[in-house]
Amino acid sequence: MAYEVGDRIISKKPHACGGNEWMVIRTGADIKIKCLKCGKALFLSIDETKKITKKYTGGGERNV
Ligand SMILES: [Zn+2]
Repeated sequence: MAYEVGDRIISKKPHACGGNEWMVIRTGADIKIKCLKCGKALFLSIDETKKITKKYTGGGERNV
């Protein structure tokens, strides 16, 4: 599974702000995701990102 900028992730556990929807804002060796509720961004490894992902929705640069 390849993450693309603009893709949406629903996390298994909610963020500290209560939101559980994230947008991928940078990809590479690490993935940067931004909480869509509070706007806080964090870096995760690809493995960590996969681990927290409950639902993954494309819709970024890649057409799904
Ligand atoms: Zn948040």
